[in-house]
Amino acid sequence: MTTQPASLPADQLVVFNTLSGKKEPFVPVTPGHVGMYVCGITPYDLSHVGHARVYVAFDVIYRALKAFGFDVRYVRNYTDIDDKIIKRAAERGIAPEAVAGENIQAFQEDMARLNVLTPTDEPRVTTSIGDIVAMVARIVEKGSGYVVEGTGGGDVYFHVPSMADYGKLAKRSLDDMEAGARVEVDPRKKHPMDFALWKSAKPGEPSWDSPWGRGRPGWHIECSAMSDRLLGDHFDIHGGGKDLQFPHHENEIAQSEACYGHPHVKYWLHNGFVNVDNEKMSKSLGNFFTIRDVLKVYHPETLRLFLLGTHYRMPINYTEANLEDARRRMDSLMGTLQRACEYAAVKWGEVAKGVESGKTAGFDARLGENGPVAAKMTEALADDFNTPRVLAVASPVFTTLNGLVTDKADKALVVEGLRAVKVLGEVLGLWFTDPAAYLATPQGDAVAAAEKAASQGLTPEQIEALLAERTAARKAKDFKRSDAIRDELAAKGIEIKDGPTGATWRYV
Ligand SMILES: [Zn+2]
Repeated sequence: MTTQPASLPADQLVVFNTLSGKKEPFVPVTPGHVGMYVCGITPYDLSHVGHARVYVAFDVIYRALKAFGFDVRYVRNYTDIDDKIIKRAAERGIAPEAVAGENIQAFQEDMARLNVLTPTDEPRVTTSIGDIVAMVARIVEKGSGYVVEGTGGGDVYFHVPSMADYGKLAKRSLDDMEAGARVEVDPRKKHPMDFALWKSAKPGEPSWDSPWGRGRPGWHIECSAMSDRLLGDHFDIHGGGKDLQFPHHENEIAQSEACYGHPHVKYWLHNGFVNVDNEKMSKSLGNFFTIRDVLKVYHPETLRLFLLGTHYRMPINYTEANLEDARRRMDSLMGTLQRACEYAAVKWGEVAKGVESGKTAGFDARLGENGPVAAKMTEALADDFNTPRVLAVASPVFTTLNGLVTDKADKALVVEGLRAVKVLGEVLGLWFTDPAAYLATPQGDAVAAAEKAASQGLTPEQIEALLAERTAARKAKDFKRSDAIRDELAAKGIEIKDGPTGATWRYV
Protein backbone atom coordinates (compact mmCIF):
# COMPACT_ATOMS: atom_id res chain seq x y z
CA MET A 1 0.00 0.00 0.00
CA THR A 2 2.97 2.29 0.51
CA THR A 3 3.85 4.37 -2.51
CA GLN A 4 7.27 5.41 -1.26
CA PRO A 5 9.93 3.44 -3.09
CA ALA A 6 12.56 5.43 -1.23
CA SER A 7 11.64 4.03 2.19
CA LEU A 8 14.21 1.67 3.61
CA PRO A 9 14.79 -0.41 6.72
CA ALA A 10 16.15 1.90 9.39
CA ASP A 11 19.36 -0.05 9.87
CA GLN A 12 20.37 0.68 6.27
CA LEU A 13 20.78 4.35 7.05
CA VAL A 14 24.17 5.26 8.46
CA VAL A 15 25.00 8.64 9.96
CA PHE A 16 28.26 10.10 11.17
CA ASN A 17 27.93 10.65 14.91
CA THR A 18 30.32 13.31 16.28
CA LEU A 19 29.99 11.69 19.70
CA SER A 20 31.49 8.35 18.60
CA GLY A 21 33.56 9.88 15.80
CA LYS A 22 32.31 7.33 13.26
CA LYS A 23 29.46 6.30 11.00
CA GLU A 24 26.77 4.33 12.84
CA PRO A 25 23.54 2.59 11.78
CA PHE A 26 20.64 4.91 12.50
CA VAL A 27 18.20 3.31 14.93
CA PRO A 28 15.67 5.79 16.32
CA VAL A 29 14.59 5.80 19.98
CA THR A 30 11.01 5.06 18.91
CA PRO A 31 10.67 2.92 15.75
CA GLY A 32 9.24 4.89 12.84
CA HIS A 33 9.67 8.26 14.56
CA VAL A 34 12.52 10.76 14.54
CA GLY A 35 13.02 13.71 16.88
CA MET A 36 15.52 16.23 15.51
CA TYR A 37 16.72 19.47 17.09
CA VAL A 38 18.89 22.00 15.26
CA CYS A 39 20.23 25.14 16.93
CA GLY A 40 18.65 28.19 15.32
CA ILE A 41 19.76 31.77 14.80
CA THR A 42 20.33 34.63 17.21
CA PRO A 43 18.29 37.24 15.33
CA TYR A 44 20.35 40.41 15.87
CA ASP A 45 21.17 40.93 12.20
CA LEU A 46 20.55 39.51 8.70
CA SER A 47 21.59 35.90 8.16
CA HIS A 48 24.63 35.04 6.05
CA VAL A 49 25.75 32.21 3.80
CA GLY A 50 27.04 30.26 6.82
CA HIS A 51 23.44 30.15 8.08
CA ALA A 52 22.17 29.17 4.63
CA ARG A 53 24.53 26.22 4.73
CA VAL A 54 23.39 24.87 8.11
CA TYR A 55 19.70 25.18 7.39
CA VAL A 56 19.87 23.88 3.81
CA ALA A 57 21.94 20.90 5.04
CA PHE A 58 19.44 20.01 7.76
CA ASP A 59 16.55 20.73 5.41
CA VAL A 60 17.80 17.92 3.15
CA ILE A 61 18.27 15.65 6.18
CA TYR A 62 14.68 16.43 7.21
CA ARG A 63 13.41 15.77 3.66
CA ALA A 64 15.42 12.54 3.39
CA LEU A 65 14.18 11.17 6.73
CA LYS A 66 10.62 11.84 5.60
CA ALA A 67 11.31 10.18 2.25
CA PHE A 68 12.58 7.14 4.14
CA GLY A 69 9.14 6.93 5.70
CA PHE A 70 9.90 8.30 9.18
CA ASP A 71 7.48 10.52 11.01
CA VAL A 72 9.80 13.43 11.81
CA ARG A 73 9.42 16.15 14.42
CA TYR A 74 11.94 18.84 13.54
CA VAL A 75 12.60 21.61 16.07
CA ARG A 76 14.66 24.71 15.24
CA ASN A 77 14.75 27.49 17.83
CA TYR A 78 15.26 31.25 17.91
CA THR A 79 17.61 32.71 20.52
CA ASP A 80 15.52 35.85 20.69
CA ILE A 81 17.15 37.31 23.81
CA ASP A 82 20.92 37.59 24.06
CA ASP A 83 23.74 40.09 24.68
CA LYS A 84 24.10 40.84 20.95
CA ILE A 85 20.38 41.61 20.57
CA ILE A 86 20.42 43.87 23.64
CA LYS A 87 23.49 45.69 22.33
CA ARG A 88 22.00 46.17 18.85
CA ALA A 89 18.71 47.40 20.34
CA ALA A 90 20.58 49.98 22.46
CA GLU A 91 22.55 51.18 19.41
CA ARG A 92 19.38 51.62 17.40
CA GLY A 93 17.30 52.98 20.27
CA ILE A 94 14.58 50.36 19.85
CA ALA A 95 13.33 47.45 21.96
CA PRO A 96 15.21 44.11 21.87
CA GLU A 97 12.01 42.36 20.80
CA ALA A 98 11.78 44.69 17.78
CA VAL A 99 15.33 43.77 16.73
CA ALA A 100 14.58 40.06 17.15
CA GLY A 101 11.19 40.32 15.44
CA GLU A 102 12.43 41.98 12.27
CA ASN A 103 15.41 39.67 11.89
CA ILE A 104 13.30 36.56 12.45
CA GLN A 105 10.99 37.77 9.70
CA ALA A 106 13.93 38.44 7.37
CA PHE A 107 15.35 34.98 8.16
CA GLN A 108 12.01 33.31 7.39
CA GLU A 109 11.86 35.17 4.06
CA ASP A 110 15.42 34.07 3.23
CA MET A 111 14.60 30.45 4.10
CA ALA A 112 11.42 30.51 1.99
CA ARG A 113 13.37 31.84 -1.00
CA LEU A 114 15.90 29.01 -0.53
CA ASN A 115 13.03 26.49 -0.48
CA VAL A 116 13.87 25.43 3.09
CA LEU A 117 10.85 23.71 4.63
CA THR A 118 9.42 25.20 7.82
CA PRO A 119 10.34 22.97 10.79
CA THR A 120 7.59 21.35 12.82
CA ASP A 121 8.34 23.65 15.77
CA GLU A 122 10.15 27.00 16.03
CA PRO A 123 10.29 27.76 19.77
CA ARG A 124 11.67 31.02 21.13
CA VAL A 125 13.60 31.60 24.33
CA THR A 126 11.31 34.43 25.48
CA THR A 127 8.31 32.10 25.40
CA SER A 128 10.19 29.21 27.06
CA ILE A 129 11.33 30.95 30.27
CA GLY A 130 9.16 28.72 32.51
CA ASP A 131 10.79 25.55 31.15
CA ILE A 132 14.24 27.09 31.44
CA VAL A 133 13.75 28.18 35.07
CA ALA A 134 12.39 24.73 35.98
CA MET A 135 15.41 23.04 34.42
CA VAL A 136 17.93 25.33 36.12
CA ALA A 137 16.19 24.66 39.47
CA ARG A 138 16.45 20.93 38.88
CA ILE A 139 20.15 21.15 38.00
CA VAL A 140 20.75 23.07 41.26
CA GLU A 141 18.75 20.45 43.17
CA LYS A 142 20.84 17.67 41.64
CA GLY A 143 24.01 19.37 42.86
CA SER A 144 25.43 20.40 39.46
CA GLY A 145 24.38 24.05 39.71
CA TYR A 146 25.10 26.70 42.35
CA VAL A 147 23.88 30.19 43.09
CA VAL A 148 26.14 33.19 43.73
CA GLU A 149 25.34 36.82 44.34
CA GLY A 150 24.88 38.80 41.11
CA THR A 151 24.03 42.36 40.12
CA GLY A 152 20.33 42.40 40.87
CA GLY A 153 19.79 38.97 42.45
CA GLY A 154 21.36 35.54 42.11
CA ASP A 155 23.49 34.24 39.26
CA VAL A 156 23.38 30.49 38.71
CA TYR A 157 26.40 28.60 37.40
CA PHE A 158 26.89 25.08 36.16
CA HIS A 159 29.70 23.29 37.95
CA VAL A 160 31.60 21.57 35.14
CA PRO A 161 33.68 19.13 37.28
CA SER A 162 30.38 17.63 38.54
CA MET A 163 30.23 15.77 35.22
CA ALA A 164 33.02 13.22 35.06
CA ASP A 165 32.73 12.80 31.27
CA TYR A 166 32.65 16.52 30.40
CA GLY A 167 34.49 16.99 27.07
CA LYS A 168 33.25 13.74 25.52
CA LEU A 169 31.78 15.49 22.45
CA ALA A 170 34.69 17.87 21.87
CA LYS A 171 37.15 15.07 22.75
CA ARG A 172 39.05 17.30 25.14
CA SER A 173 39.86 16.81 28.80
CA LEU A 174 38.97 19.41 31.38
CA ASP A 175 42.68 19.96 32.09
CA ASP A 176 43.39 20.68 28.40
CA MET A 177 40.49 23.08 28.22
CA GLU A 178 41.56 24.89 31.34
CA ALA A 179 45.11 25.23 30.03
CA GLY A 180 43.81 26.55 26.69
CA ALA A 181 41.21 28.89 28.12
CA ARG A 182 42.15 32.51 28.47
CA VAL A 183 39.14 33.45 30.51
CA GLU A 184 39.17 36.12 33.12
CA VAL A 185 38.44 34.10 36.19
CA ASP A 186 35.37 35.30 38.00
CA PRO A 187 36.19 34.83 41.70
CA ARG A 188 32.59 33.80 42.37
CA LYS A 189 33.02 30.68 40.17
CA LYS A 190 34.07 27.41 41.77
CA HIS A 191 35.93 26.36 38.61
CA PRO A 192 37.18 28.51 35.69
CA MET A 193 35.21 26.44 33.14
CA ASP A 194 31.89 26.81 35.01
CA PHE A 195 29.30 28.59 32.85
CA ALA A 196 26.15 30.65 33.44
CA LEU A 197 22.73 28.98 33.59
CA TRP A 198 20.96 32.12 34.79
CA LYS A 199 22.16 35.74 34.75
CA SER A 200 20.73 38.25 37.21
CA ALA A 201 19.10 41.36 35.77
CA LYS A 202 21.10 44.41 34.79
CA PRO A 203 19.32 47.76 34.81
CA GLY A 204 17.39 48.46 31.61
CA GLU A 205 17.70 44.91 30.27
CA PRO A 206 14.78 42.52 29.70
CA SER A 207 14.33 40.20 32.68
CA TRP A 208 12.00 37.56 34.04
CA ASP A 209 11.08 36.31 37.52
CA SER A 210 12.90 33.32 38.94
CA PRO A 211 13.58 31.74 42.36
CA TRP A 212 16.92 33.65 42.26
CA GLY A 213 15.39 37.05 41.51
CA ARG A 214 14.83 38.73 38.17
CA GLY A 215 17.15 37.77 35.36
CA ARG A 216 17.51 35.98 32.03
CA PRO A 217 18.82 32.60 30.87
CA GLY A 218 22.45 31.87 29.98
CA TRP A 219 22.91 30.84 26.35
CA HIS A 220 23.28 27.04 26.56
CA ILE A 221 20.37 26.17 28.83
CA GLU A 222 17.68 27.21 26.31
CA CYS A 223 18.43 24.35 23.91
CA SER A 224 18.39 21.77 26.72
CA ALA A 225 15.04 23.10 27.97
CA MET A 226 13.33 23.53 24.59
CA SER A 227 14.44 20.16 23.20
CA ASP A 228 13.25 18.49 26.40
CA ARG A 229 9.82 20.14 26.18
CA LEU A 230 9.25 19.30 22.52
CA LEU A 231 11.20 16.06 21.97
CA GLY A 232 11.55 14.55 25.44
CA ASP A 233 14.61 13.77 27.54
CA HIS A 234 15.97 11.23 25.04
CA PHE A 235 15.77 11.96 21.33
CA ASP A 236 17.45 11.01 18.08
CA ILE A 237 19.31 13.78 16.28
CA HIS A 238 20.86 17.03 17.47
CA GLY A 239 22.45 19.14 14.79
CA GLY A 240 24.18 22.41 14.18
CA GLY A 241 27.31 23.97 12.76
CA LYS A 242 30.68 22.53 13.69
CA ASP A 243 31.48 25.76 15.56
CA LEU A 244 28.76 24.89 18.11
CA GLN A 245 30.39 21.61 19.11
CA PHE A 246 32.29 23.38 21.86
CA PRO A 247 31.31 24.89 24.18
CA HIS A 248 27.59 25.08 23.25
CA HIS A 249 26.79 21.43 22.59
CA GLU A 250 29.24 20.13 25.17
CA ASN A 251 27.49 22.30 27.76
CA GLU A 252 24.09 21.20 26.56
CA ILE A 253 25.06 17.57 27.14
CA ALA A 254 26.36 18.43 30.62
CA GLN A 255 23.15 20.27 31.57
CA SER A 256 20.71 17.71 30.21
CA GLU A 257 22.60 14.72 31.56
CA ALA A 258 23.00 16.36 34.97
CA CYS A 259 19.26 16.94 34.97
CA TYR A 260 18.11 13.45 33.84
CA GLY A 261 21.01 11.23 34.85
CA HIS A 262 21.08 9.59 31.40
CA PRO A 263 22.17 10.47 27.81
CA HIS A 264 19.73 12.79 26.04
CA VAL A 265 20.81 12.65 22.37
CA LYS A 266 21.66 9.54 20.32
CA TYR A 267 23.26 11.13 17.25
CA TRP A 268 25.14 14.43 17.09
CA LEU A 269 25.42 15.75 13.52
CA HIS A 270 27.59 18.74 12.62
CA ASN A 271 28.02 20.52 9.31
CA GLY A 272 31.32 21.92 8.08
CA PHE A 273 32.24 25.58 7.73
CA VAL A 274 31.82 27.92 4.81
CA ASN A 275 35.29 29.27 4.05
CA VAL A 276 36.23 32.39 2.15
CA ASP A 277 39.79 32.23 0.89
CA ASN A 278 40.35 29.36 3.31
CA GLU A 279 39.21 31.32 6.33
CA LYS A 280 35.95 30.56 8.10
CA MET A 281 33.13 32.90 7.02
CA SER A 282 31.94 34.64 10.13
CA LYS A 283 30.43 37.79 11.40
CA SER A 284 33.36 38.40 13.71
CA LEU A 285 35.93 38.16 10.91
CA GLY A 286 33.86 40.49 8.73
CA ASN A 287 34.27 38.26 5.65
CA PHE A 288 30.62 37.30 5.42
CA PHE A 289 27.97 37.65 2.71
CA THR A 290 24.33 37.98 3.66
CA ILE A 291 21.90 35.58 2.00
CA ARG A 292 20.03 38.53 0.49
CA ASP A 293 23.18 40.02 -1.02
CA VAL A 294 24.00 36.72 -2.70
CA LEU A 295 20.43 36.31 -3.94
CA LYS A 296 20.65 39.71 -5.64
CA VAL A 297 23.23 38.17 -7.95
CA TYR A 298 22.39 34.45 -7.96
CA HIS A 299 19.11 32.58 -8.17
CA PRO A 300 18.21 30.60 -4.99
CA GLU A 301 18.38 27.41 -7.08
CA THR A 302 22.02 28.23 -7.85
CA LEU A 303 22.95 28.94 -4.24
CA ARG A 304 21.23 25.75 -3.12
CA LEU A 305 22.99 23.67 -5.78
CA PHE A 306 26.31 25.23 -4.75
CA LEU A 307 25.69 24.29 -1.09
CA LEU A 308 24.56 20.73 -1.86
CA GLY A 309 27.46 20.04 -4.19
CA THR A 310 29.64 19.40 -1.11
CA HIS A 311 28.88 16.81 1.56
CA TYR A 312 27.42 18.54 4.62
CA ARG A 313 30.33 17.57 6.90
CA MET A 314 33.02 18.94 4.56
CA PRO A 315 34.11 22.58 4.34
CA ILE A 316 32.79 24.61 1.40
CA ASN A 317 34.95 27.19 -0.30
CA TYR A 318 32.84 30.23 -1.15
CA THR A 319 34.26 31.93 -4.23
CA GLU A 320 32.71 33.68 -7.18
CA ALA A 321 34.23 31.07 -9.49
CA ASN A 322 32.54 28.24 -7.55
CA LEU A 323 29.18 30.02 -7.61
CA GLU A 324 29.59 30.62 -11.36
CA ASP A 325 30.22 26.88 -11.78
CA ALA A 326 26.99 26.13 -9.92
CA ARG A 327 25.17 28.73 -12.05
CA ARG A 328 26.39 27.18 -15.30
CA ARG A 329 25.43 23.71 -14.08
CA MET A 330 21.96 24.85 -13.03
CA ASP A 331 21.51 26.73 -16.34
CA SER A 332 22.23 23.52 -18.20
CA LEU A 333 19.92 21.40 -16.00
CA MET A 334 17.11 23.94 -16.26
CA GLY A 335 17.69 24.18 -20.02
CA THR A 336 17.14 20.41 -20.27
CA LEU A 337 13.95 20.64 -18.21
CA GLN A 338 12.58 23.46 -20.33
CA ARG A 339 13.41 21.66 -23.54
CA ALA A 340 11.80 18.43 -22.34
CA CYS A 341 8.69 20.25 -21.09
CA GLU A 342 8.28 22.06 -24.41
CA TYR A 343 8.76 18.84 -26.36
CA ALA A 344 6.29 16.86 -24.26
CA ALA A 345 3.93 19.87 -24.07
CA VAL A 346 3.66 19.79 -20.26
CA LYS A 347 4.14 22.49 -17.64
CA TRP A 348 6.90 21.73 -15.12
CA GLY A 349 4.64 22.75 -12.24
CA GLU A 350 2.11 20.15 -13.33
CA VAL A 351 4.49 17.21 -13.63
CA ALA A 352 3.69 14.81 -10.80
CA LYS A 353 6.40 13.00 -8.87
CA GLY A 354 7.12 9.56 -10.27
CA VAL A 355 6.57 7.90 -6.92
CA GLU A 356 3.05 9.25 -6.58
CA SER A 357 1.82 8.74 -10.07
CA GLY A 358 3.11 5.23 -10.32
CA LYS A 359 5.92 4.78 -12.69
CA THR A 360 9.16 5.83 -14.12
CA ALA A 361 9.81 2.22 -15.17
CA GLY A 362 10.18 2.88 -18.88
CA PHE A 363 12.58 5.73 -18.21
CA ASP A 364 14.44 3.70 -15.58
CA ALA A 365 14.97 0.99 -18.20
CA ARG A 366 16.61 3.61 -20.45
CA LEU A 367 19.01 4.49 -17.60
CA GLY A 368 20.40 0.96 -17.52
CA GLU A 369 22.85 0.51 -14.66
CA ASN A 370 22.34 4.17 -13.67
CA GLY A 371 18.78 3.40 -12.53
CA PRO A 372 16.27 2.95 -11.12
CA VAL A 373 16.36 6.56 -9.94
CA ALA A 374 14.54 6.13 -6.61
CA ALA A 375 16.73 3.19 -5.53
CA LYS A 376 19.97 4.94 -6.50
CA MET A 377 18.86 8.07 -4.68
CA THR A 378 17.99 6.12 -1.53
CA GLU A 379 21.36 4.41 -1.55
CA ALA A 380 23.15 7.76 -1.77
CA LEU A 381 21.06 9.38 0.97
CA ALA A 382 21.40 6.37 3.26
CA ASP A 383 25.16 6.97 3.21
CA ASP A 384 25.12 9.84 5.72
CA PHE A 385 22.91 12.01 3.48
CA ASN A 386 25.44 12.14 0.67
CA THR A 387 24.09 14.93 -1.56
CA PRO A 388 27.04 15.00 -4.00
CA ARG A 389 26.24 11.33 -4.65
CA VAL A 390 22.57 12.19 -5.22
CA LEU A 391 23.66 14.86 -7.73
CA ALA A 392 25.78 12.22 -9.42
CA VAL A 393 22.62 10.07 -9.68
CA ALA A 394 20.87 13.08 -11.29
CA SER A 395 23.53 13.52 -13.96
CA PRO A 396 22.62 10.54 -16.23
CA VAL A 397 18.93 11.31 -15.66
CA PHE A 398 19.36 14.71 -17.33
CA THR A 399 21.63 13.31 -20.05
CA THR A 400 19.09 10.60 -20.88
CA LEU A 401 16.25 13.13 -20.87
CA ASN A 402 18.16 15.32 -23.30
CA GLY A 403 18.84 12.33 -25.55
CA LEU A 404 15.16 11.37 -25.62
CA VAL A 405 14.18 14.85 -26.79
CA THR A 406 16.92 14.91 -29.42
CA ASP A 407 15.81 11.50 -30.70
CA LYS A 408 12.17 12.63 -30.72
CA ALA A 409 11.28 9.69 -28.48
CA ASP A 410 7.83 8.81 -27.19
CA LYS A 411 6.51 11.81 -25.27
CA ALA A 412 5.21 9.60 -22.46
CA LEU A 413 8.77 8.45 -21.86
CA VAL A 414 9.96 12.07 -21.64
CA VAL A 415 7.25 12.77 -19.05
CA GLU A 416 8.50 9.77 -17.06
CA GLY A 417 11.98 11.28 -17.14
CA LEU A 418 10.59 14.58 -15.87
CA ARG A 419 8.88 12.69 -13.05
CA ALA A 420 12.19 11.10 -12.14
CA VAL A 421 13.70 14.60 -11.82
CA LYS A 422 10.80 15.54 -9.53
CA VAL A 423 11.68 12.60 -7.25
CA LEU A 424 15.25 13.88 -6.93
CA GLY A 425 14.15 17.50 -6.64
CA GLU A 426 11.73 16.71 -3.83
CA VAL A 427 14.49 15.45 -1.56
CA LEU A 428 17.21 17.89 -2.64
CA GLY A 429 14.78 20.82 -2.58
CA LEU A 430 15.97 21.71 -6.10
CA TRP A 431 14.14 22.54 -9.36
CA PHE A 432 11.32 24.18 -7.44
CA THR A 433 11.25 27.07 -9.93
CA ASP A 434 9.65 26.93 -13.34
CA PRO A 435 12.59 26.40 -15.75
CA ALA A 436 11.49 29.28 -18.02
CA ALA A 437 11.27 31.65 -15.04
CA TYR A 438 14.68 30.49 -13.80
CA LEU A 439 16.28 30.97 -17.23
CA ALA A 440 14.77 34.46 -17.54
CA THR A 441 16.34 35.54 -14.22
CA PRO A 442 19.60 37.39 -14.74
CA GLN A 443 22.50 36.04 -12.66
CA GLY A 444 26.17 36.90 -12.22
CA ASP A 445 27.39 39.50 -14.73
CA ALA A 446 23.98 39.53 -16.41
CA VAL A 447 22.55 41.27 -13.33
CA ALA A 448 24.42 44.42 -14.30
CA ALA A 449 23.14 44.04 -17.89
CA ALA A 450 19.57 43.74 -16.60
CA GLU A 451 20.04 46.83 -14.46
CA LYS A 452 21.41 48.68 -17.45
CA ALA A 453 18.45 47.60 -19.59
CA ALA A 454 16.05 48.65 -16.84
CA SER A 455 17.75 52.03 -16.51
CA GLN A 456 17.18 52.50 -20.26
CA GLY A 457 13.51 51.87 -19.66
CA LEU A 458 13.39 48.27 -20.80
CA THR A 459 11.35 46.09 -18.49
CA PRO A 460 10.98 42.35 -19.17
CA GLU A 461 7.41 43.09 -20.34
CA GLN A 462 8.69 45.62 -22.87
CA ILE A 463 11.29 43.13 -24.07
CA GLU A 464 8.53 40.53 -24.52
CA ALA A 465 6.49 43.09 -26.48
CA LEU A 466 9.45 43.87 -28.78
CA LEU A 467 10.02 40.16 -29.25
CA ALA A 468 6.37 39.68 -30.28
CA GLU A 469 6.69 42.61 -32.68
CA ARG A 470 9.81 41.04 -34.18
CA THR A 471 8.04 37.70 -34.64
CA ALA A 472 5.20 39.46 -36.44
CA ALA A 473 7.66 41.39 -38.61
CA ARG A 474 9.43 38.16 -39.57
CA LYS A 475 6.14 36.54 -40.45
CA ALA A 476 5.34 39.51 -42.68
CA LYS A 477 8.84 39.16 -44.15
CA ASP A 478 9.71 42.65 -42.89
CA PHE A 479 13.31 41.67 -42.15
CA LYS A 480 14.45 45.27 -41.93
CA ARG A 481 12.20 45.83 -38.94
CA SER A 482 12.99 42.45 -37.34
CA ASP A 483 16.75 43.09 -37.64
CA ALA A 484 16.33 46.58 -36.23
CA ILE A 485 14.61 45.17 -33.14
CA ARG A 486 17.36 42.57 -32.69
CA ASP A 487 20.04 45.28 -32.94
CA GLU A 488 18.19 47.59 -30.58
CA LEU A 489 17.95 44.84 -27.95
CA ALA A 490 21.57 43.75 -28.49
CA ALA A 491 22.72 47.31 -27.88
CA LYS A 492 21.00 47.15 -24.51
CA GLY A 493 22.62 43.85 -23.53
CA ILE A 494 19.81 41.50 -24.54
CA GLU A 495 20.42 38.48 -26.72
CA ILE A 496 17.69 36.85 -28.80
CA LYS A 497 17.80 33.15 -29.61
CA ASP A 498 15.53 31.63 -32.23
CA GLY A 499 14.43 28.09 -31.46
CA PRO A 500 11.97 25.55 -32.86
CA THR A 501 9.23 26.81 -30.55
CA GLY A 502 9.86 30.52 -31.02
CA ALA A 503 12.30 33.15 -29.87
CA THR A 504 13.66 33.47 -26.33
CA TRP A 505 15.84 36.20 -24.83
CA ARG A 506 18.38 36.61 -22.07
CA TYR A 507 20.58 39.26 -20.56
CA VAL A 508 24.26 38.96 -21.50
ZN1 LIG B 1 21.63 25.36 20.72
